[in-house]
Amino acid sequence: MRLIMLGAPGAGKGTHALLLSKEYNIPQISTGDILRSHIKNETDLGKEAKNYMDKGLLVPDELVVEIVKSRIQEDDCKEGFILDGFPRTIPQAQALDKALEELGIGLDNVVNIDVSDEVIIKRMAGRRVCPKCGASYHVEHKKPIKDDICDECESELILREDDKEETVRKRLQVYEEQTKPLIDYYEKRGILLTIEGTGSVEEIGKKIKDALEVSK
Ligand code: AMP
Repeated sequence: MRLIMLGAPGAGKGTHALLLSKEYNIPQISTGDILRSHIKNETDLGKEAKNYMDKGLLVPDELVVEIVKSRIQEDDCKEGFILDGFPRTIPQAQALDKALEELGIGLDNVVNIDVSDEVIIKRMAGRRVCPKCGASYHVEHKKPIKDDICDECESELILREDDKEETVRKRLQVYEEQTKPLIDYYEKRGILLTIEGTGSVEEIGKKIKDALEVSK
């Protein structure tokens, strides 16, 4: 199964991509995570990407397209993959179409998680991540066992620079202008599944799975 997770930042793409990746035993490919690991390792790509990410802007298309093109050709992607946070612009979607065509494969579905801006701003201000292992938490909805400490590796949790309210507002504006047109792009192809993204993680997860089953 080859899926794209679409939605505004903070809509729950990452959470549900991870759950689906376990359910269907296919990798979750998060361009945000890949870029953050480049930043952590201080690669040239990481240094360039950081300038954009800290401001809530998108990293240039050609950089992310190359990352995804090579990642989807790795062995673990043979049975499928879940793209989480890619594509985010029409040129990225077109580049993906071209790459998939060259590989002789297609997309099954695009899951669009729909959440209002107000809910997103509230959610993201409470988000905490582990800088070491990448696990994510929420001060209200997904508390770690010990306050501000990662359950997995015991590191101190942080609020990501790009989850700060001002940056979140910028990211929502960028989403509106550059990413939202993808809804129409995939709707026209007849592979878009829009899921209302409010409620518990379990409820939303069930809605997504049901919609995927029905569309098979
Ligand atoms: P995320 O963790 O998916 O919210 O991504 C965090 C940041 O990484 C975004 O705000 C962008 O700056 C950058 N990024 C991630 N994926 C992409 C993409 N497909 N295109 C451009 N920038 C991206």
